[in-house]
Amino acid sequence: MLAKAKSILKKYWAYDSFRSIQEQVISSVLLGNDTLALMPTGGGKSLCYQIPALMSKGICIVISPLISLMKDQSDSLERKGIKSCCLSEDLFYRNIDEVLNKVMTMNYKFLFITPERIKNQVFQHYLWKMNPCLFVVDEAHCISEWGHEFRPEYREISLLRDNYPQVPILALTATATPRTIEDIQTNLNFKKENCIRGNFQRENLNYLVFNDNDKISRAIEIIKKYNDTGLIYVSTRKNAIIYAEELKKHNLSVAEYHAGLSNYERRQRQEAWQKGELKVMVATKAFGMGIDKQDVRFVIHLDLPSSIEEYYQEVGRVGRDGKEAHAILYWSEKDVRNLRKRVLMSYPEMGKIKEIYNALYSQYNIAYYDGKNYEKSFSLNKFCYTYHFDFISVFSTLKILSREGILHYNQREYPISKVKIQSDYLELRTILKMQDDYSSLLATLLRIYGCNHIEYTFIEEGKIASYLRWENEKVILKLQSLEKMGIITYIRFPIGEYIIFQQERVKKEELYISEKNYQTLKDLSIQRAEKMIDYIENAKCREQYIHKYFNIETEKCNKCDLCRSSQTKVLTLQEKIIEILLQGEKPISYFNNNTEFAEGEKAIEFIRQMLDEGIFTLNGDKIRFNKK
Ligand SMILES: [Zn+2]
Repeated sequence: MLAKAKSILKKYWAYDSFRSIQEQVISSVLLGNDTLALMPTGGGKSLCYQIPALMSKGICIVISPLISLMKDQSDSLERKGIKSCCLSEDLFYRNIDEVLNKVMTMNYKFLFITPERIKNQVFQHYLWKMNPCLFVVDEAHCISEWGHEFRPEYREISLLRDNYPQVPILALTATATPRTIEDIQTNLNFKKENCIRGNFQRENLNYLVFNDNDKISRAIEIIKKYNDTGLIYVSTRKNAIIYAEELKKHNLSVAEYHAGLSNYERRQRQEAWQKGELKVMVATKAFGMGIDKQDVRFVIHLDLPSSIEEYYQEVGRVGRDGKEAHAILYWSEKDVRNLRKRVLMSYPEMGKIKEIYNALYSQYNIAYYDGKNYEKSFSLNKFCYTYHFDFISVFSTLKILSREGILHYNQREYPISKVKIQSDYLELRTILKMQDDYSSLLATLLRIYGCNHIEYTFIEEGKIASYLRWENEKVILKLQSLEKMGIITYIRFPIGEYIIFQQERVKKEELYISEKNYQTLKDLSIQRAEKMIDYIENAKCREQYIHKYFNIETEKCNKCDLCRSSQTKVLTLQEKIIEILLQGEKPISYFNNNTEFAEGEKAIEFIRQMLDEGIFTLNGDKIRFNKK
């Protein structure tokens, strides 16, 4: 079995052997076991599912939080001549049928999807016929309700397990605490507990933490010193803008990146950074998912991350090429206070949540006991401004309400439109006979899309425009006119933020949010933040501390700021002993029992060494320093 796996590795990837735990994971999957693989970023996780899938009959379904994350992997499989497809977001309602049909009939080997897709009827229908051989859950920690990155959609994945009990599941993650490890296996209904851990030690990564108030000067020094690709992480949009402005004043190649930028701006900046045209990105945590740049030399944290998980993920983006890299964090007492404040602010008081809930419906004039399944364009900034709410409270409330299944808040990268016919048959026939723009448009809607009276059909204005050889704008205008005439209903969802209200509006006092869940989550967030603070203040070795947080036992790293300074402490200890002896002889017990020599053993060891070398001599029970 493994011989075959190796021959596939050689054939498609030209490698002779597997790395770290790849072999273990592949064997486990091939034996049909549910498997959770804990692998550091850049640890070669994709081979762990690609090889078993290539050795099995049927299709491998890969579930990922963002399709863009998977696009590169799918493309690289295609380049190797392996049939692979991404069911991207813009296909949500339109050509999904067409694409899935192709995947099925042409025997594709890999299909990448987002978790939202799983409950889609069309997808379910095709999946049944496709004979899946393996389900892969990427970024599996998102399934943990108590984790730092919970995504409610991830809960849909268990549906696959229910429908296909015989198909093994492979869950992959780089950040999982013991609790998350347990959560993943429980939620995916693992038949047997089975977690395989990779080696998380990063020989090339240096963790450095400094208490420093003049962060911007330090950042400038570092950017100039390395003069190479780097990342700067901050906690808010405002800070991203302020710091980037400061750095630009020093003619440094920097740009800011945060969720407030348009999709176009974000894509453009990411590409420039990826190509090396832009050296340093000053970013919020919005930047990073799906980035695979090998030669990032440093990451600087100018604000405290809200958890070790978040920090570790961001740090994982440097030095993937194995060459020396630095993770530098600057902090001040004010940052510690800010982090504590930030965490509390992300859990607004129940009263405030209810107020925001009320305003969310009110802004669209939705009446009580109405609004279920309404979809509305939304602007977080405008909403905060109009209703005088602060950004963090609203954003957190949207997250809390999403978690409770009350609404769904997201951003759309492509517009989506749908049409339903309103006119009766006779009226339609009359219009179709008129031989004008309306009749051609209506004929197209009926013929190409099969629009009908019963349900909405998703359409693409661009496609209609090219079919009729019209301008895009003309299609939209004419569709709007047809709607005004009462012939069709035309709904156009634009690009950008939107809300889908999943439940009808209720009165504030009737709104139910589980207080218990809310409190547990709040407590967990506080604990995570406190661990982050403990890391900067009390760690003995940075790397070891982080590993221990993820329940991995490792030796001290010998290269973080703390290991480095404890090495110098050994030197000062020796110097201290010599200094004391220079004043006169001392008995051994002096060093053994003196509280100044907390590491008494080390002192004795040093003294023995000096005695052996004849630098010290014994005079009775006293030690003498032989001045030359
Ligand atoms: Zn260390």
